[in-house]
Amino acid sequence: MTARLTVGEAPDIRKHNLSQLLRLLHLGGPMRRAQLTDLTGLNRSTVAGLVAELAALGAVLEEPDLGLVEKQGKKKGKQAKAGRPSPLVRPRPETVQVLAADVSIGRVSMALIGLGGAVVARRSRSFTDSSARTIARLLATLSKELLASPRAGRHVVALGVSVPGVVRGQDGNVRFAPNLGWEDQPLGELLDVALAERGISGLRVGLANDGDLGVLAEHQRGVARGYDDVVFVEGETGVGSGVISGGLPLAGSGGYAGELGHLTIRRGGRLCRCGARGCWETEIGAGAMARALGLPEDADEGEVGVLLRSAAVTGNASLVARLDEVAEYLGIGLANVVNAFNPQLVVLGGLLQDLYPLVAERVTEVIGAAALRAPMEQVQLVLPELGADAVLLGAGEYAWREVLADPVAALS
Ligand SMILES: [Zn+2]
Repeated sequence: MTARLTVGEAPDIRKHNLSQLLRLLHLGGPMRRAQLTDLTGLNRSTVAGLVAELAALGAVLEEPDLGLVEKQGKKKGKQAKAGRPSPLVRPRPETVQVLAADVSIGRVSMALIGLGGAVVARRSRSFTDSSARTIARLLATLSKELLASPRAGRHVVALGVSVPGVVRGQDGNVRFAPNLGWEDQPLGELLDVALAERGISGLRVGLANDGDLGVLAEHQRGVARGYDDVVFVEGETGVGSGVISGGLPLAGSGGYAGELGHLTIRRGGRLCRCGARGCWETEIGAGAMARALGLPEDADEGEVGVLLRSAAVTGNASLVARLDEVAEYLGIGLANVVNAFNPQLVVLGGLLQDLYPLVAERVTEVIGAAALRAPMEQVQLVLPELGADAVLLGAGEYAWREVLADPVAALS
């Protein structure tokens, strides 16, 4: 496929315009061509040419929209009257897809995700051997199963993988994943080998931290849509987190920023799997909640979640009272988050989603006492919209980024 150029149009401008259009359709869903013209500020014939090119790549379909006739693409609804019919441009999830994977403790979940963000097929598998080599093989096996599914599209172009640890983006080396027992594990390299062994080639593979992907998904498709300053905190065995600041992911110099689970919150507290004492995750993670609820510290996350949700239904006051200390540390950590990042939203995911409604009053009281008033006035604590899928969908969005940046290179 060769890109068609309009006379005088620089290739990088066309690449930028194609990218902008495909991103609008991926995040906004089907739109009339006139709407795309309005949103991009490009002229009608340019948009028509760009849409035709995306259609030739298999990424979109133009459907004549005979029922809706618009004038100059400006008027909507009942104001629409005589004018040019504006075709509906629809992203094609059945054709262009990515693979997404969420490696969590004891389980790998994967999905095939179509352009536009809908999950087309899923697989998941639990594991007991958590060596990086085993996980790489498991990811490759599930990828192969999904690629063989009858719903797999013609272009499955990338694979995004979420890891509960500190990941070096450029080569997928997992510098540290304490809850998997990993230190400097070359998961990216192992995954390339495992995919090649199963005859899978041509996928662009990217690995990233689970909290960074959770916040990405909630920012693009969930509760944090339209907000520029967002912190995501997900309480599981570990506490994953990610930060969007000024509309962009906060990365730090090595991409390792935003590891809020390892903020020291209690001097001389419990030993964390990272080697330090009194990390936030030792005070508000699944282990801390299990201890508070009288379960063994290594109780299954699912079991903790069931107990929290049942307390919400029955209003079991004695159970809620036992969670007071966890609530206090949740509040102290959140006060630090509010003071450090001045977010508009803090999204509480994972088990925190079940915990927070039970202890909201106590948490608010602790934050109120510890956070500065000015940033406190601007923050809202909210629950995620994407639920348990946030990280998996974030891995999908991570996989989409190169396709959206240069559709011609990715799909030709
Ligand atoms: Zn720690």
